[in-house]
Amino acid sequence: AAGSRRLHLAILPTPGMGHLFPLAELSKLLVQRHNFTVTFITFAVADNKATQTFLSTLPSSITSISLPSVPLDDVPSDANIETRMSIVSIRSLPALRSVLLDLQSSTNLVAFLADFFATDGFQIARDLGILYYMFIPTNLHFLTLMLQLPALDAAVRGPYQDLKEPIKLPGCVPIPGTEIVTPLLDRSNDAYKWMLHHAALYRQAQGILVNSFSAIEPGAAKLLTEEQEGRPPVYPVGPMIKASSASGASPCLKWLDEQPQGSVLFVSFGSGGTLTKRQLKELALGLEASKQRFLLVLRSPSDEDSSSTYFTAQTKENPLFYLPEGFLERTQGVGFVVPSWAPQIEVLAHSSTGGFLSHCGWNSTLESVTHGVPMIAWPLFAEQAMNSVMLVEAVKIAIRPKKGDDGLIDSEEIARVVKELMEGEEGKVLRNRVKELKEATAVAVAEGGSSYKALNEVADKWKSFAL
Ligand code: UDP
Repeated sequence: AAGSRRLHLAILPTPGMGHLFPLAELSKLLVQRHNFTVTFITFAVADNKATQTFLSTLPSSITSISLPSVPLDDVPSDANIETRMSIVSIRSLPALRSVLLDLQSSTNLVAFLADFFATDGFQIARDLGILYYMFIPTNLHFLTLMLQLPALDAAVRGPYQDLKEPIKLPGCVPIPGTEIVTPLLDRSNDAYKWMLHHAALYRQAQGILVNSFSAIEPGAAKLLTEEQEGRPPVYPVGPMIKASSASGASPCLKWLDEQPQGSVLFVSFGSGGTLTKRQLKELALGLEASKQRFLLVLRSPSDEDSSSTYFTAQTKENPLFYLPEGFLERTQGVGFVVPSWAPQIEVLAHSSTGGFLSHCGWNSTLESVTHGVPMIAWPLFAEQAMNSVMLVEAVKIAIRPKKGDDGLIDSEEIARVVKELMEGEEGKVLRNRVKELKEATAVAVAEGGSSYKALNEVADKWKSFAL
């Protein structure tokens, strides 16, 4: 290693803001507390304006480089996002190798950190003689599922959805087969095989950092932080959440300023989630019928797979068009509609916000917890249904509306859960519980807390490797 030069970390995130945000926070901590420098290596598919703008705002010790795009014309157009991403990752390996080689000669590169679908690069790191770690932007329940997947695959015949009993994973809340991560629901799809491929790579990592903390999933945390033969050490270092950009000028924040304390339900489905036309209509009617104040982030509906707009995050058509006739007039003063994107952290931190109807993406969940806001769980895809089960059954900070036989959540059910959360008895219990968890979160990340110490432990390993 090169003398007194600062230690360098190369990070390869899977595309998506939900991956980039926590990794950026992690990088900032490694820069501030441990004097590292960091390079973000991004896949060409993530090379959009939002990503580049975000990366350009990071401190100067954190730089980025983009991998060239890879051909995908031979991939069937209906291939799942997991399949596409896995193919991108494998086809990008030659370019990744040359980037890592360059970094090795120009910096004091000690470790390669990859998330979800980017771990194929471990073999290159091994060849180059640097450390290779994994980052899980979601939780310990998900990690447990992935670590158990090969065993589960061998033990269960047929679709997981048909299992009579919920799946019992060590330290986790029992998960009904219908609620496990979406790419596992169709075992004949290529995406399922790719999940098995990645599950095997998870075990090869030299360590796994997870954006979670013990107070939110104590059972899984206890088991995974014990040493175990054949499984990498696990470090719960969360919550790492996006720093507030403190742009108080946004119209929706101004509107929130004028609302009573804790009175507004924030409604948002993450950076890419969309509803179908019919479901969006029911949601709007339900919000209206609840007579509660709401701040709705609105995206044009897609009547296709709800993950299909994930990489664009921008609405092409005007989403207001899809609201029920007269909705905006009738809810004027009570509701506020923002097309496409809201400053979520600032909204959740605002004292007028009293509830969050969320798709339960893990970043959104952590942000809600950190700001003490109870939730309505409305999962769409990926591991969101599993998160919802955990938040309702185990963490007890969320309420979940029921779907009808047609798969829709109707407006009455929506109005019921919204009223319950905002002014019902159950809402009160959830609110108290999330406030407790908020305190526990602050303790975990403060100096001497469990997450703080876990990150120190990782940094120390990397430092001692460089000696
Ligand atoms: N986000 C935001 N404004 C929006 C939608 C999303 O700032 O209108 C941010 C949100 O705060 C979170 C991230 O985007 O940090 C979404 O991550 P999450 O894991 O919740 O869901 P995903 O987008 O990955 O489905």
